[in-house]
This record gives sequence, C-alpha cells and structure tokens, in this order.
Amino acid sequence: MNKILAAAGAALVLCACSENTEENTSIDRALSTITKDAIYAHLAYLADDALEGRLTGEPGHDKAAQYVADRFAEFGLEPGGDDGWYQQVPLQSYLIDTENVSLVVHRNSGDTELSYRDDYTMSADMVRSENSVRGELVYIGRGVHAPDYGYSDYGDIDVAGKILVGYSGGPDIIPGDERSFYSSSQTKHDEMVARGAVGWIGLRSRQSQANSPWERSKKAAGTKASMTWVGLSGVPDSYYPEIRGAASLSPAAATALLDDTPISFEETLDAIEASTVASVPLGIEVTLARKTNHEQLSSPNVIGVIRGTDPELADEYVVYTAHLDHVGVGVEVDGDDIYNGMYDNAMGTAIMIETARALAAAPPRRSIMFIALTGEERGLLGSDYFANYPTVPVDSIVANVNIDMPLFIYPLADIVAFGAEHSSLGPLTDTAVAAEGFILTPDPIPEENIFRRSDQYSFVRRGIPAIYLDPGFTSTDPDIDSVAMRTDHRHNHYHRPSDDLSRPIDWDSAVRFTRANARIGWGIANDDARPTWNEGDFFGDKFAPEP
Ligand SMILES: [Zn+2]
Repeated sequence: MNKILAAAGAALVLCACSENTEENTSIDRALSTITKDAIYAHLAYLADDALEGRLTGEPGHDKAAQYVADRFAEFGLEPGGDDGWYQQVPLQSYLIDTENVSLVVHRNSGDTELSYRDDYTMSADMVRSENSVRGELVYIGRGVHAPDYGYSDYGDIDVAGKILVGYSGGPDIIPGDERSFYSSSQTKHDEMVARGAVGWIGLRSRQSQANSPWERSKKAAGTKASMTWVGLSGVPDSYYPEIRGAASLSPAAATALLDDTPISFEETLDAIEASTVASVPLGIEVTLARKTNHEQLSSPNVIGVIRGTDPELADEYVVYTAHLDHVGVGVEVDGDDIYNGMYDNAMGTAIMIETARALAAAPPRRSIMFIALTGEERGLLGSDYFANYPTVPVDSIVANVNIDMPLFIYPLADIVAFGAEHSSLGPLTDTAVAAEGFILTPDPIPEENIFRRSDQYSFVRRGIPAIYLDPGFTSTDPDIDSVAMRTDHRHNHYHRPSDDLSRPIDWDSAVRFTRANARIGWGIANDDARPTWNEGDFFGDKFAPEP
C-alpha cells in the first residue's frame, strides 16, 4: 500500500514539472534554496531552552517575535503590522480564586455543598470579580440546535433562567466539518444566551473520561489563567455576561447529582453515544458562586508582506499563518520543566520563515502576508484578533494557509490539507503537493474536528477560504507503523517538555513539505481568479453568503 502511494507520487512529479515556463523556472530556482540547514537554524533558535517555551505575554515569546521580525527584515519583506512588524494583541487573563468558589445543590431534602476539585471544577468570569447564580437544572444533551440537520437538543424545552447540564461535542448524525461549527463553544453559547439560559454544568463522556481522567483535571484546576483578547471597545471577545456560572462535574459527582432525577448519569452517557435526544428538566436547583482575578497584558502577532508584482492584483493577499507561542514553563517531567514546543509550533514557524525567504526571491502576482501568531495555545487569540482587526481590508484577503505542529517523525508519503474539500484551494493544493512527490489525502480523522481547532478557523469565520496543511498519516516505508508513531507522539511528547530538539526529524520530508507549502501560496497568488468556496458549501454559505 505505502509503496504504491510512493510510486504514484513520483509519477505525479514528472507530470507537474513538464510545463517549462519562465515563471516555473524562477519558482523552482527559489524553492531549491530551501534546505535542511536553513530550516534547522530557525528551529534551533525558537526551540531553545533560552526561549522558555514561548508563553504568550512572556519574555521568551517576545524574543521569538523579535527573531521572526529580524528574518522578515533580512529577506526584504515589508512590515505588515500596525506598529512596524508587530500587531499588538490586547489580552485579558482571568483565573478563578480557588478559595472562593462554591457549588450548592438544593433539593427538597436540604442543601448539599459539593467539594471543589474532588467533585467539580469552576470556570472563571472574564470580567466580573465576583458573581453567583441560582437556577433550576435542565439536562440538555450536547446543547446543539441544528435545524439544517433536523436535530435539536432543545426541542420545545424552555430554558430561560435555567442552568443547563450537558456535554461538549456534537452528534454523529451531523457530518464532520459542519459538526465542528455546531459543537464550537461560540455556537453553543449563542444558542444558550438566545434562549435565556444562565449557567452551564459540563459532564464527562466515557470517551473523555478515558482520555483525561478526573485526577488530572483536579490537579490542574485553578493553576493556570485563561485568556481572551480585548476589542477596541474594551470588551473581551466571546464574553457572555448572561452566563453567570460554569462548572464541570466529576463522573462520581455526576452520578450522585443525577441520582433521583428523570434521567441518570449512565442514561445520559448512553444517550449521547447513540446521538439520542434525551433533554429533560431535572427538578433540582443549584447555586454557583465564584470570585475571579484579572490581569491585562499584550503580546504581538509578527507580520511581514511580499509585495505582489501585478498592479491589478497586488492589493490582494494570500495569508500564511503559523503560531509562534507555546505553553511556557510548567510541571517538571523527567527533570525538565521547559516546554520547548519544537514540533508545536517552532517547526511550523521555521517552515513559514523559509517559505517567506524563498517566495521573496520569486514574488508572485498577488501579495503574500506571513503572520507568526501569538496566543494560539490560549484559544486561537492572535488569529482571531487579526481576523477581527486585519491590518489590510478583510475583503482583500483571498486565502489562508496555516501550519500547526507538522510531524516529520517518519518518511512521509502523503499530506493532508484540512478544509481542502470546501473550496477551490483543494485542486490547487493537490497540484502543489504532487509537484513535491506527495499524495494529497482526505482528512483521516474527521471526528476530531481538526478544521475548527487551529488558527485557520479564525479566517474561515470571516468568510475566507482556508486550509490547514499537515503531514499525512502514511509513510513511504512499509515497515513503519506511522499511525502508532503519531499516537506515541501524542501520548508521550505532545505538550510535554520532551517536544524538543531531541525528537527525530525526517529532513527529506520536512524540506519537501516546505517546498510544497511555498508552491501552494505561489499557486494561489498567481492564479487569474481568487479562490472561491465550493457551490453550496456549508462554511461558504454560513460565513460568506452571496450578497
Ligand atoms: Zn500548535
């Protein structure tokens, strides 16, 4: 299987290279300067211990930002921020005051106060330093209202003034990327607020109990501030003041809470696995109360531009993104507490820097913008801020190509472009990756909603066609179990101090992936037509409706 894929890839290289125009020669020459040493130099700087895990708002991230700005300057890019190379993103952090939280259950038989950490964790309030809410509980499944798919967890249940109890995610009957939309926190909050709900209590599915045991959540509770960006009006993004309390229950506490109610915890677990709507008022009340500590800070996106050569098209932009931030210094594992984020996402940033260097030597017709994003690990903050306050008119952005944590841990046969099936970026990406000997394969894990989980989704929400380019799951070496290697990375190195320069890197794959990445932007930027959403596409219709 793998060998066949590799052979097909090699055949495609020959086809793609047969057109020998002057333009193709100049891009080929520019791409030939992308080498292991060039990428490694950026990687070695960004993943060094001296940068202390590049945490948003900390000096290590600032140093990394300066490094990227220096490279952009060296390659002759134009500054594309609103402050030279930088676009400062105003941020607000908020952290629960663990000494001042409570969750009280009111039943006819009397009140019970649950125990913080053992029974529940509590989300902090973005703005208020102190608040509380009392309300009747309603079990609401996953809280999804998707009339397009004939599905609603709400039905005709009145939830005004109620505290909802339910699960994250979306039902299987809604297809992958559309499910991403319906299961996003924003869509769910909009629905809750429109219906007048006042609080949320989260439950753990069997899957999430297996993935992340309560013991781990309990330890992490209240240790790390959440963050959001603050708009020009001074109001934090995604703030829902109507939701006055939010907690998450341990499986044991959920079993006890739903003991004498119309539906038990076990029955809710079965219902969501079967995607059965089982919403029902629970006939008990709870009070959620909390205090929150806040802090204001800012952290930069770094932005550089290669000016397009065609006067008609130079005011249009293809935007490349890679998040520069990681998770900083944290819990020590095997004597190391620096979370270097070599793959996540020093690698993506290094690839983007090299892409900028190569394309600066062969500028295409449209302009190309490169953004090293801040705040991804804190909730896609840098990309979302840029998408809301772009430094060029939003209509002039024709596409986004994002890279986040590309793994080169085995010789690579294929590339995945999450989101490629939604727009004209799909065929164009296919051609570009084939020219570097890769096969473009479809999303291998649609159930994980990858398309919504990194920075490209901020652009999608502004109606801009986007892809998230990622190494595929197949190796050219049939003796390698590539899926097992990815799983091992996920379990043992992802968001751990060991994601550092000691990890293996298949350089041949990394170099060709970088060239493919550059070919994609070059292809978009030289095309006569700007990219379009496919006819009737869900995201196109939702976020870029025809006027
Ligand atoms: Zn990442």
